[in-house]
Amino acid sequence: MYKLQCTNYKLCSRRRVSRKWSPYLYIVICTFYIVSLAGCASTQPESRTRDGLLGTVITLTLYDHAPDAVFGAMFDRIGAIEDEMSVNLADSEISAVNAAAGLKSVTVSDETFALLRAARDIAALSDGAFDPTVEPLVKLWGIGTPDAHVPLPEEIAAARALIGYRDLTLGEDNGVFLARENMGLDLGGIAKGYAGDEVLRVAREAGVQHAVLDLGGNIVVCGGRPDGKPWRIGLKNPEPGADGYFGVVSLFDGAVVTSGGYERYFIEDGVTYHHIFDPQTGYPADSGLKAVTIVDDNSTQADGLSTACFVLGLTRGMDLLGRIDGAEGVFVTDDNKVYVTPGLADRFEMTDGAYEFMQN
Ligand code: FAD
Ligand code: MG
Repeated sequence: MYKLQCTNYKLCSRRRVSRKWSPYLYIVICTFYIVSLAGCASTQPESRTRDGLLGTVITLTLYDHAPDAVFGAMFDRIGAIEDEMSVNLADSEISAVNAAAGLKSVTVSDETFALLRAARDIAALSDGAFDPTVEPLVKLWGIGTPDAHVPLPEEIAAARALIGYRDLTLGEDNGVFLARENMGLDLGGIAKGYAGDEVLRVAREAGVQHAVLDLGGNIVVCGGRPDGKPWRIGLKNPEPGADGYFGVVSLFDGAVVTSGGYERYFIEDGVTYHHIFDPQTGYPADSGLKAVTIVDDNSTQADGLSTACFVLGLTRGMDLLGRIDGAEGVFVTDDNKVYVTPGLADRFEMTDGAYEFMQN
């Protein structure tokens, strides 16, 4: 049996608490590109990169000559979010809720509670395609870990039976309760987006006006380029191991968040299994898409919607975005056709002839 592992996420050992995943399985791939910055040559950006936070590589680039302390505060904010919300840290709030599943309610911080509300809202809007209680499936498949394997059908059925955002109670005084034992929360599909919103808030409060913040492929930008033009963000070719970008999104402010099956996956017996699950089947989503990119003012919402749309597929994903103000998307199908929501059409440009732009 041949098994190949791939993930673009840095598997970290930032803390004493042991991680479930060992550090030798990742490679780091560029997941987006800032295109055409030649016009900005006179403004010297400053970048800082950290490996390991949120299990990924984070690069913060500021164009306002910010002191080191600003970068420090931004990374600290991300670290605090990970401490509260990581399913991989035994002492996080999410781990406490999971340990008490079926037994008792656990009181969490205001921000964890608010993010769980947002996650539950997206679960409801997407009819459970995005589901923050997906943890039993994530744990069972172990994708991105040395234990990644195709589980037995009966194991998948048992994990699937534990998933259901309707069994997540968000009660009085920030109390969080999962109705059944062995249920579990996993905010991997939305918390990176929330961290993007928060790190931007910290930067703005410090007076930063122009920034590009890359949280492992979740991009947040603000202020446009210092020369007054919009940022141009290249969307990575969604082929495993591929380089380059197939299209460019232009924007002054907002989030550009992609979900795809080409970065964290393993191959067993010639079949590729990626890390975004369809809660209906218990298997990696197979909706006919290679990738979905969401463009939205709100990075949290963009992250949840990118995962939801990837599971829903083109037609239902487009329909979902049509019901949400301000959320736009780029969908890449398995046969390399690119569909863009009408609201993004004049801000998206195809750059790779291997992909076919489809007029809606
Ligand atoms: P997205 O599509 O945004 O999210 C996919 C992730 O969401 C999956 O990995 C899974 O966690 C979850 N998911 C899968 N299917 C669904 C579904 N149907 N509905 C809802 N959610 C779903 N990575 C490491 O390697 N080591 C770490 O220690 C680590 N710690 C992390 C801590 C935090 C707080 C966060 C936010 C992420 C962490 N990660 C870590 C990365 C994490 O495991 C996810 O793989 C990553 O967030 C996936 O992001 P994405 O952009 O690839 O895909
Ligand atoms: Mg997501």
